[in-house]
Amino acid sequence: MKASSKFDFIIVGGGLSGLHLSYCFLNDKYFKDYSFLIIHKEKSKKEDNFFSFWEAGNGKWDKILKKRWNKADFYSSTGKVVMDFSEYNYKTLSSSKFEEYVKRKIKKKKNFKFINDTVLKIREDKNKLVVVGNKKNYQAKHVFDSRLPGNVHEEIKKYTYLKQHFLGWVIKTDEKKFNKKSFVFMDYRIRDKNHTAFTYVLPFKKNEALIEHTYFSKDECDREVYEEYIREYLSKYYNTTNYKIIKSEYGVIPMTSYPFYKESTKNITKIGTAGGWVKPSTGYSFKSCEKYSLKILKNIKEGKKIGIIPEKKYYFLDKILLGVLSQHNHLGETVFYKMIKRNPTKRVLEFLNEESKLSDILKIIISMRSIYFLRVFIKSLYKKVL
Ligand SMILES: Cc1cc2nc3c(=O)[nH]c(=O)nc-3n(C[C@H](O)[C@H](O)[C@H](O)COP(=O)(O)OP(=O)(O)OC[C@H]3O[C@@H](n4cnc5c(N)ncnc54)[C@H](O)[C@@H]3O)c2cc1C
Repeated sequence: MKASSKFDFIIVGGGLSGLHLSYCFLNDKYFKDYSFLIIHKEKSKKEDNFFSFWEAGNGKWDKILKKRWNKADFYSSTGKVVMDFSEYNYKTLSSSKFEEYVKRKIKKKKNFKFINDTVLKIREDKNKLVVVGNKKNYQAKHVFDSRLPGNVHEEIKKYTYLKQHFLGWVIKTDEKKFNKKSFVFMDYRIRDKNHTAFTYVLPFKKNEALIEHTYFSKDECDREVYEEYIREYLSKYYNTTNYKIIKSEYGVIPMTSYPFYKESTKNITKIGTAGGWVKPSTGYSFKSCEKYSLKILKNIKEGKKIGIIPEKKYYFLDKILLGVLSQHNHLGETVFYKMIKRNPTKRVLEFLNEESKLSDILKIIISMRSIYFLRVFIKSLYKKVL
């Protein structure tokens, strides 16, 4: 195919959602005669984070996984629950490996082009769609856009809104300190008592692990706060002060009921965080990027509206759960403890992946019942912000 600045589809942003979507398109023979352009703004600093997700059985990223687990521990200040991940394995991969892998596949396809440029705006003229880049303009019939709208940070505040903010270290210890067969899903024993905050541990080897301190709250903390909790955790539960930090990662992920999907138009579909693909109540998005990308392909083939509209029941449940966490920010420990203690892991994981049967959703709701949920539910009937 001759290089051209006119394409059938343009994907703005080669991050998690843009690459998931590209990967789905390039693997589907239906799209072999369509032309694709991915426009990616290079970051000034190369980042390499860990992406984790869970899925049943084997999956398409297994070749590039850093590690997978079939068991986890959940700790609250009142007890421990052993979580069974044997059916839904918990999997982790590095973002750089994921990028390399998908970009290698893109390079091999003649109908795909990946370029570095910064998209300044997208103009919807009468019969054409012009993507205005810093270096050049590009034309497409449809654009998938992972840029967040400029005014979103103000708009989001009109809805229920928390941030998942965290700092993690990959450390190497001199002695064998970790049980690499089991990871820590959430540990609430050491935390800021006013907020939902917990430690998360992914043991890669007996002497190497990612330890992360995470908050679900309104505002980020100073770096020292997360670091102090990590140090205290390592000292108290692994009895170690003797370790080398080989890598660190920091993130802020929006957890909000803001209806991102409304930003899409007939010819421009918002994707990723900008499309509302991050699960509001957990901040996870790896699996939903995959699921929604496949849904987009299906919509195109069936001639349906391309954009993704969240399933009403999950949107509503996320809004309630987020409302409780937002109004009673110290209650996360109790909320997640009840959910995980009173339900089999498989039911919880299906629920969080939005793959539950209605009867299982009801069982989860019943297991978490409390006056706080009832109050937020009543408020939700007449208010956007809970
Ligand atoms: C440290 C860290 C750890 C995380 N861990 C997990 C995890 O374990 N599991 C999970 O599910 N989620 C995780 N997340 C969340 C996940 O990374 C995000 O939800 C996800 O990246 C969102 O995908 P996206 O495509 O919307 O955004 P991004 O992945 O950020 O991609 C957007 C891309 O668009 C590009 N871009 C921006 N502006 C322009 C422009 N004007 N022109 C062209 N390109 C542009 C950017 O350079 C960027 O690469 C983590 C996030 C962080 C920061």
